[in-house]
Amino acid sequence: MKELTLGIIKPDGVRRNLIGNIFSRVEKAELKIAAARMLKLDRAKAEGFYAVHKARPFFGSLVESMMAGNIVVFVLSGDNAITRWRELMGATDPSKAEKGTIRADLAENIERNTVHGSDALDTAKREVAYFFKEDEIF
Ligand code: ADP
Ligand code: MG
Repeated sequence: MKELTLGIIKPDGVRRNLIGNIFSRVEKAELKIAAARMLKLDRAKAEGFYAVHKARPFFGSLVESMMAGNIVVFVLSGDNAITRWRELMGATDPSKAEKGTIRADLAENIERNTVHGSDALDTAKREVAYFFKEDEIF
């Protein structure tokens, strides 16, 4: 099934010049970049994005790390794009992620883990709409 999913290159990834490396992996995997933009999150936008994690002990620190610098938000489209992007990313904790995944190869630690990806159809819909209008997605 053709899907859209939201990806983010987090501040640690942008700061370490990894945009091209990450987009190159996306292209090699034959996912289509249907929208992309660089921006910096303010507190309200970062807290709103991660609202599901509000009760977690790491929430405050996660929000700070997402506000620490520029990010690149993007939409991927393709068959099973949600799962395929999660597979490219690897597990949340880079020390547990499979070799060859973005997080295993590039991430700093479990919090500054370089990339985000939507985890299901409903969250992908919400997250894509959180950053992009329909006429910005190609
Ligand atoms: P994922 O990004 O793989 O979907 P989660 O949705 O569980 O992971 O968590 C969202 C983000 O919160 C993670 O990408 C990571 O930046 C941060 N995070 C998750 N678990 C922890 C943790 N135990 N300690 C610190 N930060 C965490
Ligand atoms: Mg998640």
